[in-house]
Amino acid sequence: MSNAKCIGCGATLQTVDENAPGFIPKSGMDNENAICKRCFRLKNYNEVMDINVNSGDYLTMLNALYEADGLIVKVFDIFDFDSSIIPSFNRIVGDKNVIVVLNKMDILPKSVNIGRLIHQVKFLLSKEGIKLVDAVAISAKKNHGIDQLLKTINRYRTNEDVYVVGTTNVGKSTLINRLIENTSGEKEIITTSRFPGTTLDLIDIPLGDGSFIFDTPGIVVESQMTRNVAPEDLKYIMPTKELKPKTFQLNAGQTLFLGPLAAVSYVGGQDNSFTIYVSDRIKIHRTKYENHESFYDNHFNGLLVPPTLEEPVLDHSRVKTFEVEGGTDVLISGLGFVAIRDSATIEVKVPEHVEVYTRPSMF
Ligand code: GDP
Repeated sequence: MSNAKCIGCGATLQTVDENAPGFIPKSGMDNENAICKRCFRLKNYNEVMDINVNSGDYLTMLNALYEADGLIVKVFDIFDFDSSIIPSFNRIVGDKNVIVVLNKMDILPKSVNIGRLIHQVKFLLSKEGIKLVDAVAISAKKNHGIDQLLKTINRYRTNEDVYVVGTTNVGKSTLINRLIENTSGEKEIITTSRFPGTTLDLIDIPLGDGSFIFDTPGIVVESQMTRNVAPEDLKYIMPTKELKPKTFQLNAGQTLFLGPLAAVSYVGGQDNSFTIYVSDRIKIHRTKYENHESFYDNHFNGLLVPPTLEEPVLDHSRVKTFEVEGGTDVLISGLGFVAIRDSATIEVKVPEHVEVYTRPSMF
């Protein structure tokens, strides 16, 4: 049995089970830079293969992390904040120092108050008892803020290993590739993709002084919207460039559909303004609240696409109601957020498991 690892995702290479991580045809085993079939297909055809990752293996890995000494770099996707929080993160981290990375800054409009965003993360983590030593805002994709992050890592790591952790799709692999590139000059070693769950095992990158940077597998969180659409439809919901806000002047009694994936209804309050921040590929439709249920049922796979769904994902009996003050953002995990100017009563419908929550506006 070989211990060679796929240089794309870190899974141990094997030639036995095509549906398990690290499968590679026997003929590919001799290649020094071998990548598994899954990474091969992902890289060459942008096509994802379902792999059954044993959740017991995840847990073993996470427990090993708890036992290890080192610095934790926790990556957040600023667009999908809530889902970026790993369940029981404090258990995994123990009393290790934590640097928070806010990734994908390139998609936030310039008007966002980054200081306020960082303050929010600090508040969130301090509530969990996490030892946060610093927070750095970056764009792994655009290579912004990486040097500052490397400096921050070097300041706190004191010759110890560095573990990069985060839920799937926050951009860990892209970041690690940047770190490799900025420290060794090599490019795109690790498989990155818009498909959640790409990185399968610990990948270690030598830092030159006997310590390593480890890319840990992303943990899939049920509340991610990305879990609710087909892999080929992720391109519609994941923004790739700076969000262009769209503002609607609303009276109570109106509903905004964010494609077929969410309905935000204004049910009580004065004339108000709702500003939507979602991928520009998601179309927004305004309709009367009193008709919105039949409108959805008639158009979820017609007027309201993309993405085109086979089944409706909104269930009219599953409604979340919020009383918000003026200057509140309502976040729909993985899809985006709605900034509401004045106090309002709103109803939100989203697919099962997707989280909706509010925060003071970031603008
Ligand atoms: P991982 O699952 O956390 O390892 O995430 P990946 O590195 O595979 O990235 C997931 C998706 O997010 C891919 O489509 C990346 O191109 C995208 N992504 C990663 N970093 C950034 C970033 O800084 N900005 C933007 N806009 N997208 C990013």
